[in-house]
Amino acid sequence: MIKQLLFDLDNTLYSAGYGLEEKVSRRVVEFIARYLGLSPEEAVLRRRERISRYGTTLEWLMAEEGFTDIETYFAEIHPEGEADALGADPALREFLEGIKLPKAILTNSPMEHAVRVLDRLQIRDLFPRIFDIRWNRLKGKPRAASFYLALDALEAAPENTLFIDDYPKYVTGYLAIGGKGLLLDEGDIHRDFPHQRIRELKELAAFLA
Ligand SMILES: [Mg+2]
Repeated sequence: MIKQLLFDLDNTLYSAGYGLEEKVSRRVVEFIARYLGLSPEEAVLRRRERISRYGTTLEWLMAEEGFTDIETYFAEIHPEGEADALGADPALREFLEGIKLPKAILTNSPMEHAVRVLDRLQIRDLFPRIFDIRWNRLKGKPRAASFYLALDALEAAPENTLFIDDYPKYVTGYLAIGGKGLLLDEGDIHRDFPHQRIRELKELAAFLA
């Protein structure tokens, strides 16, 4: 029985169509290119090659490239105004309010990004706990430890906690610790995902019923 909901933030609580994550990716690639002295194309390739063994780009840069200037990285990747394309989403708010289960957020972004997004959507008050990448000591999803840190803080068990994310590898990571996980696949691009998948957040209601 599900007693707790744990949501990803980006492209989960708002549509990928806003392009926020693409802009984040672009800034990440620019940062990598500058830091490693690569062309943007080379940076894309290098990132693709190395990222699979880490949860985030930052983790990779710290582990393999001697990177330490974390706050500068966050400030460049997540500038003020980054979420300005988003606006209040009363329908989402009503939907979330209708689900009478405690809700929290687990994101691989820093808190300032999460707060900006939730404030723009006007749903921040619905999430008493937000677990960000600093909370996870910069080692985020899909690591088991990142899920356990959040679950422990929520005094929740994986088997009673439904986690919803738009990244297959994060959902798979959660399923691997015995959690209940759901892939939100807005664009219907992960048709071969071997576990449960929804196309929009509203389908959650049927899933919970
Ligand atoms: Mg996401």
